[in-house]
Amino acid sequence: MLKSRTIIILLAIASIIGSQVQAQKVNEPQNVSAQWSQPYQPFRIVGNVYYVGTYDLACYLITTSQGNILINTGLAASASIIRNNIEELGFTLADTKILLTTQAHYDHVGAFAEIQKETGAKMLANAKDAQVLADGGDSDYEMGKNGRTFEPIRVDGKLKDGEVITLGDTRLTMLHHPGHTKGSSSFLLDVNDGTKTYKVLIANMPTIVTDRKLTDIPEYPEIAKDFAYSFKALRKQSFDLWLSSHAGQFAMHSKHKPGDAYNPEAFADRSGYDKSLNDLEAAYLKKMQQK
Ligand SMILES: [Zn+2]
Repeated sequence: MLKSRTIIILLAIASIIGSQVQAQKVNEPQNVSAQWSQPYQPFRIVGNVYYVGTYDLACYLITTSQGNILINTGLAASASIIRNNIEELGFTLADTKILLTTQAHYDHVGAFAEIQKETGAKMLANAKDAQVLADGGDSDYEMGKNGRTFEPIRVDGKLKDGEVITLGDTRLTMLHHPGHTKGSSSFLLDVNDGTKTYKVLIANMPTIVTDRKLTDIPEYPEIAKDFAYSFKALRKQSFDLWLSSHAGQFAMHSKHKPGDAYNPEAFADRSGYDKSLNDLEAAYLKKMQQK
């Protein structure tokens, strides 16, 4: 009697543990663009800002006298591509001190948990994306339906709109550009390459990921207002050069080919930026008409 009861209890415990393990499994979406994980030759964009991402998932290394900042990672399996890219440029992943992201989605933060474990770097996140980063995307208003889509990341500091992140002589300003995620962010920094100072904008472009009506998302009731705010803020943003979360969003491959000489001016392109915002805002306004 006692024995069978013990077995039942043990089975119950085992099934609880089993279901928790299952709930914590990472379900990174699989049917994604091959360009997202295609290796790409790293290059110096401007001054101390380097492209270290894959063919389409943009990752930026910003080097300073006190260690480096890494913005975005691509998918979980791209950790080795980023490491190789950083080494090919003559730097080392171990010198990474600060991790930042433009948006808490698996295609931009998938390898942060691994990189953080290895480097001990501090993840500083827009306060509105902090929870999603910490629970591996489980609480994301849209992607959360898949459960965890990336390995949870320890958030070491929460950032507010306009907050300045300082490392060595580099100062980056975080700009809150919500909508795509609740805490989507752009980053602005002045870069001096010895010849000229450039105001560089790493913009998170406000694309829509949900099939639902924007007025019908209980997990993110302010989404429509947030998109409207971000279009307005991005439109009035001044800069000399701009980059974004996906290479395709700023037409990187038409501005730079592997092996090209250093040429920051290739990334000026205010008109491409304005056109992209026009197109995205038109998509947003059309989405607002959804019945
Ligand atoms: Zn996204």
